[in-house]
Amino acid sequence: MKKIVVLGGGESGIGSAVLAKTKNFDVFLSDKGKIKDEYKKILEQYKIDFEENSHTEDKILNAYEVIKSPGIPDKAPVVAKVKEKGINIISEIEFAGRYCSAKKICITGSNGKTTTTTLIYFLLKNAGINVGLAGNIGKSFAFQVATENYDYYVLELSSFQLDGMYEFKADIAVLLNITPDHLDRYDNKLENYVRSKFRITQNMNDDDCFIFCADDEITMSHIEKIVLKAKMLPFSQKTTIKQGAYIDNNSLLANFDNNIFSMSVDDLSLKGRHNIYNSMAAAIAGKVLDIKNEIIRESLSTFKGVEHRLEFVLSVNGIKFINDSKATNVNSVWYALDSINGKIIWIVGGTDKGNDYSEIMDLVKEKVKAIVCLGVDNTKIVSFFRYIVPVITETHSANDAVEKSYELAYSGDTVLLSPACASFDLFDNYEDRGNQFKNAVRNL
Ligand code: ADP
Repeated sequence: MKKIVVLGGGESGIGSAVLAKTKNFDVFLSDKGKIKDEYKKILEQYKIDFEENSHTEDKILNAYEVIKSPGIPDKAPVVAKVKEKGINIISEIEFAGRYCSAKKICITGSNGKTTTTTLIYFLLKNAGINVGLAGNIGKSFAFQVATENYDYYVLELSSFQLDGMYEFKADIAVLLNITPDHLDRYDNKLENYVRSKFRITQNMNDDDCFIFCADDEITMSHIEKIVLKAKMLPFSQKTTIKQGAYIDNNSLLANFDNNIFSMSVDDLSLKGRHNIYNSMAAAIAGKVLDIKNEIIRESLSTFKGVEHRLEFVLSVNGIKFINDSKATNVNSVWYALDSINGKIIWIVGGTDKGNDYSEIMDLVKEKVKAIVCLGVDNTKIVSFFRYIVPVITETHSANDAVEKSYELAYSGDTVLLSPACASFDLFDNYEDRGNQFKNAVRNL
């Protein structure tokens, strides 16, 4: 019996172990940290051998193949040892893909993955398709492949997942955008990160479709350098597109095989320029799958959005509060500021990931009347915006940040939590930060 070792006992690791077990492999799961009780129960239920709080090399280095969680960096000592031994290392998605004959619609990009993946899933559901949602979201893909039987999957893929994928093939691949992110895991080379994102197109042939943003410079300059067999379906808000999607006279047009979809941009439920891109990508996917125009239109106009992404919370005395806690890089803040009319009190800060704020300087100058810092160390933000924004204050809790913002705002203004930073200095994660913000707003 071939031995599969799973490194990492989180959602993807547990799913991989269960799938490997149901495929009759000898399975061992190892996690350097603690494994959640609910996951341990599943391992016990499937009679899977595991360890936590350590990596026992003797039980790992005799594997036929290793499935590595995307959270474990290549530089981790145990990974280096596995590599030294010449053992194949793959991701959960690669492994599960081997046992999944469903059609796969895969979404990647630096920003907008979860929003677009959820929107496309919503669209397919509305069309009555037997479809599963997986990847970087919800229940693990491998677990679903082991226990469900879907005809289609909509998969959100991060670059870390893509890095462990070799034979996997998407039927429809969506690459939303590429802005520098996570470069610490790519030897600080943008080129490496770009190549990782483009793995979403690997193995595609001429029946498959590649949906991408023609307005994204990094994407376009890479496309010029490579050969792709897939049908190329770009979307753009700047130029007219023959086959793909574009904007004409405030209408979103999507065209595939001379079959045209159109709807007014004003009817899209998701607001903001970035969400027009996300909606375009979904509309093209809908056309490729031959979903009726009325279903695409209804889906794009009724989709509720995903929590913590430009989420409207409440209006209090004419002041709007928006929770964009998931905006953990400068590019997503650009789109948030761009999407708001009127003056903004901007709550920003947290763990800095090497941010360069010059990209949003003009928008901040034009729209932001006060900055409320919410982080342990706010020096970078203060020094960057000191001469640009008249009022800058510092706070260290969601409550204080909301109260301070409320004091500074007038009717017609918007208070926007869009932190541009990770949350770990003051919060458990971005969800915790967003939830604390929403609670504070409700308590005003
Ligand atoms: P991801 O899963 O890639 O992190 P999300 O859908 O969770 O993306 O959104 C993360 C942040 O990026 C949110 O602040 C959201 O408003 C913003 N965003 C969503 N779509 C895009 C896009 N196409 N381009 C830039 N920013 C976006």
